[in-house]
Amino acid sequence: MIRLAIQKSGRLSEDSLNLIRECGISFINSSLKLKTEATNFPLEILFLRDDDIPGYVADGVADIGIVGENVLVEEGKQQLSIQKLGFSKCRLSIAVPKAAEYRNIQDLQDKNLATSYPNLLQAYLDEQGVKAHIHTISGSVEIAPSIGLADAICDIVSSGSTLISNGLREVESVFRSEAVLISNQELSAEKTRILNQLVFRIQSVRKAQKAKYILLNAPNEAIPTIKSLLPGMKAPSILPLAEEGWSSVHSVVNEDDFWEIIEKLREAGAQGILVVPIEKMIL
Ligand code: ATP
Ligand code: MG
Repeated sequence: MIRLAIQKSGRLSEDSLNLIRECGISFINSSLKLKTEATNFPLEILFLRDDDIPGYVADGVADIGIVGENVLVEEGKQQLSIQKLGFSKCRLSIAVPKAAEYRNIQDLQDKNLATSYPNLLQAYLDEQGVKAHIHTISGSVEIAPSIGLADAICDIVSSGSTLISNGLREVESVFRSEAVLISNQELSAEKTRILNQLVFRIQSVRKAQKAKYILLNAPNEAIPTIKSLLPGMKAPSILPLAEEGWSSVHSVVNEDDFWEIIEKLREAGAQGILVVPIEKMIL
């Protein structure tokens, strides 16, 4: 049995639980319980505050965990990271009051900055050669300038709307973060085997999230061009249609290239293009 620590309630919780479910692992989740056991995989899930997860995994209280890189690196435990997970993407940014004069980072020299991430902020300021006073506060960082506590803040941003509604303007990006899977560094052979199975499933789910299955019809003379546009996993499948001179082409495309490829396929003569999601992808 391997023990996984995830955030009890917050921005990581839902996506963490969904990832486990997409890996085909079932469990009963009661919001009142602090731990639960999977019914079809040797996994126990602990529900914790996200700040506690790196420490518990480092100490072996939990074997593995899911946490934001911002928290992991702030706590100096980046060596525990084993796999990026692609969700809870955000950045740690410096923001100043909207009306404040700001040309570049040198303007923060000797200023007061409020943050919950003193280590990440200090590392960034050192790198930029700026000396400022860092005030560590645990929450509601964005109100610090308006109550006179600080000249600027350094906090987590995703859309930026919280900053705007507090009269702030983002001026520097300090750190980019996403959720990561972390692991204790001295797992037993048995736990390592279970972890490898889990990582394999996570990778299959993640590859599938980016990939789409595409089916289309095309006149046979367009097939060479279409083949070059749709490399697929190995090569596209090409099947004869029940109409003379036509074929059906099946392949896999990456979501990022999707719209560009669709345009080119249509120019090449493709018709009846269907695009469907892929649930799992094993390479
Ligand atoms: P806890 O009570 O567990 O300590 P918290 O309040 O510290 O929770 P959350 O606000 O739930 O933490 O954020 C958890 C993590 O989610 C952050 O450390 C960060 O990695 C990520 N995150 C935070 N804000 C956002 C956002 N706006 N968009 C995407 N991801 C975010
Ligand atoms: Mg927290």
